[in-house]
Parts: sequence; structure tokens; C-alpha cells
Amino acid sequence: MKQSEHIKVWGSCLSIIKDNIPEESFRTWFAPIEAISLNGSTLSIKVPSDFFREYLEEHYIDLVSKALKRVMGNDAKLLYNIAISGDSSIKLPPHEKIDLENRLRDPYRQNNFISPFAIPGLQQIKIDSRLNPNYTFENFVEGECNKLGYTAGMAIAKKPGGTPFNPLFIYGGAGLGKTHLAQAIGIAIKEQAPKNIVLYVSANIFQTQYMDAVNVKNKLTDFLNFYRFIDTLIIDDVHEFADKPGTQNAFFHIFNALHQSEKQLILTSDKAPVDLTGLEQRLLSRFKWGLSVELLPPSFETRVEILRAKSLKDGIELPEEILTFLASNITGNVRELEGTLISLLAHATLSKEMITLDLAKRLIDKIVTANNNEISMDSIRDTTCNYFKISKEELVSKTRKREISQARQIVMYLGRNLTKKSLASIGACIGGRDHATVLHACNTVTDLMETDKNFKKFVDDIESQLKPL
Ligand code: ADP
Ligand code: MG
Repeated sequence: MKQSEHIKVWGSCLSIIKDNIPEESFRTWFAPIEAISLNGSTLSIKVPSDFFREYLEEHYIDLVSKALKRVMGNDAKLLYNIAISGDSSIKLPPHEKIDLENRLRDPYRQNNFISPFAIPGLQQIKIDSRLNPNYTFENFVEGECNKLGYTAGMAIAKKPGGTPFNPLFIYGGAGLGKTHLAQAIGIAIKEQAPKNIVLYVSANIFQTQYMDAVNVKNKLTDFLNFYRFIDTLIIDDVHEFADKPGTQNAFFHIFNALHQSEKQLILTSDKAPVDLTGLEQRLLSRFKWGLSVELLPPSFETRVEILRAKSLKDGIELPEEILTFLASNITGNVRELEGTLISLLAHATLSKEMITLDLAKRLIDKIVTANNNEISMDSIRDTTCNYFKISKEELVSKTRKREISQARQIVMYLGRNLTKKSLASIGACIGGRDHATVLHACNTVTDLMETDKNFKKFVDDIESQLKPL
């Protein structure tokens, strides 16, 4: 009985609409619509595409709204279902959350779209923001290295789109917290303004969506329109847009549309706008409209705080000496710091060992040894030159001066023993010597080390400088 009901209701609406628009428009825009269900006061209709839906909203919404109200009463609601090609059986309950993941893979094919517009009482569009719930401000340790970004982020969270920091452009090396900070702002915005539509997307995913959309009729429009709904758009790693003019162009339009309507943009990148290559000037200049902040490697004190915060979050209170030891030995980025802490905790749990300074030291030793496998020819050459106080030019020159040819032979010997390079490529690093020369040098050094204590000490010293700790 319900089934005929929705067809009847929609049929009555259509006859009102038909009387009010030219026949051709009716045929184009209303004939293809199919009524699919009536649920309380919500009528679901199926439209062929998102573009179609938008056109209806733009041109006929007043008329449709009036017709619906006349037929169904004042609290009539309309729910759009977008057709998926080849599948006409789309039935999602009106409250079903739109699965943005599907939508992101293919914004055109997402199957249920609730209009955010026009008809009073209609549900708002709901999308999954794709934010990692762990990346909150609460879990982000503030330090000198990130102070400006942190403060600006907090200000934006209170007034998205309403601060001068639009776009907020966060840049810095890998593992320094760009993604975390950008998402923390998104999470805070959602907490304070639940209606604000926040979307986090990596530049790579954006690029894939664009590529999927570009060659299909109407799909690009849908792609661009989809992004225009967003209130806070976070795009991670925009340097990935380099040398992709089509994606840059699409992003340029989205950027303009959002910025003009005072929507918030948050971008991250591995370099400052001035240092980015392969990006169009008009984009770079827009990146500089708001605020650019750099995230720096954390200081020793901040490293201790990060370790403390992360271990406490795991329910473990590490003794001060262990925090200090880790913070002074892992000096790179936060991701490494976190990685070491995780292996320490995992190690202790698996081996049922107490977390002691000794365990921490053994672990760090392992990490350093692992890194040592990556000794490069450059570092061997530089360390050896430095040790003998000779220049790189002298080292690779043809001179047969004893101390220089000796240093040269040591570089070849260490290259053979500490790297996985071939004899030929070791020779290439040392002024284009051939493999026979390298082999000869290795044998000479081995012999000398057995007979000449002083010489052996040189080699050992250099080798230990190449392997710190
Ligand atoms: P990036 O995007 O700059 O490469 P991420 O944001 O992915 O770096 O950060 C790497 C890891 O380090 C993440 O797990 C993140 O939670 C953590 N991290 C980075 N900065 C901080 C910080 N200031 N406080 C706490 N954790 C941090
Ligand atoms: Mg990142």
C-alpha cells in the first residue's frame, strides 16, 4: 500500500509542477525522476546524478517545495537518492550516515545524498571527516618548536574562517607533527561547532579523486561541487601536487570558492611556499594569503615532555633517567621518538622485563647499529679527510703523496667493508678509479693493518667515528 502511496504523492506534485514550467523543462528535469518511497513525511526520489540534483535545487526548489507542502502538508521533506549506473536498487534509510570513504573513492557514485538546502526541516549533510581521533590538541605537546602553529591553530578552532590565518599553511620536515596539528584543529572545530563540515584529505587522495572524475561527463562538476560544501578543508602534503597541473587547477577553483565564502583552509607541506617547486604561481601566492608556520625539530626539553606524555597515555610512568636517556639519544623527529618508545614498551611487555635504563640502552644500541648499515661513501670520504686534515679535492686527485694515497686507500677499504657498494662504484666515488685499483687498495690496507700498529689505529679510529656510540 505504501508503495502506491509515494507514487501517488509524487504524481500529485508533478501535476502542480507541470502547470508551472515549460513543457520542455518538465521533460528534461522532472520526467527522469522516480519516486521511491514515502516514510512519514519524507518522500524519497531518485535522480540520475548529483549534477541533476544540484540543478533542481538551483532552479526549481521553490516550486518543488510549494508542491510538496500543498500535497503533503507543511512538514514535508525531500530526500534525494542519486542513481548508481547499472543499479537501481538504492535504498538507504534517511538517517544513514553518508559513507564518505565510498564517496571519496568516487564522489559521483556515492549512493545517498541528502540535500543540505532549501526545504525547511531537511536533514543536514553528514560526512565522515576522516580525522584520526588520537590527533587531538590534548595529545599534542606544545613547545618552542611548534608554538606559533599551536597558537594559531587554537585561534582557528574557535573561529574557523574568521581569523586572518586563512589559509593556515603548516610546513616542516617529516615526522614533526604537521598531520597531527592540522587534524587537531579539525577535531577542535568539530567539538566547538558540530555543524561545521570538516574534511581531512591527503593531497594524494584528492589527486586520485580528480583523476577519476576528470574524464567522465558531469563527474568533474560533482567533484568540484562536493568540495564546495566543506566548511573546513584540510589538505595534507600539498607538495604532492607538484607537476600535476590538472589537479592544481581543480584545487585552485575549490580554494577560491571556499576562501571567498570564508571557509577555513588548512594546508600542510614539507616546504615553505617560497621553496615549493612544480606548483603554479597563482596557487603559491594564495598559500601566502594567510599564515605560514614552520614546525621545527623539538628541543631536548620538548622531547622529554613528548615521551612523558606518550608513555603516560599508555599508562606507564617512566623514570626520569630513562626519559632523559631516550631524549638525548633520539634527536631526530617526533615519529622516531615515538617509534623508540613503542619498541621499548613492546620489548618490556613481550620479554616480561622491567623497563630499566639498561633495557633502554640495549634497545638504542640496536637502533644505532641498524642505522649504521646505512653508512654512505660520502660520510666515509668526509670523515677520512677530516681525520687526516686533507681536502676532498686532494683525496680524489692523482697525487701520489704518501699520506694522501694512504687516506685514499683507507676510504676504498672502508667503502668495501661498510657499504654494499660494488668495487666499480667505490672507485667512482674516489675520482674514477677502476675496480682493480680498489681491490688492490683493499689488500694493501689489510696487509698494513696486520703489520703497522699506527696504521691500524688510524683505520679503527675512522671506523669508530663512522659508528657513533
Ligand atoms: P608529519 O605529518 O609532520 O610527518 P605527524 O603529524 O605524522 O608528522 O607526526 C608523527 C608522529 O609524531 C605522530 O604520531 C604524532 O602524533 C607525533 N607527534 C608529532 N608532534 C607531536 C607533538 N608536538 N606532541 C605529541 N606528538 C607529536
Ligand atoms: Mg604528515
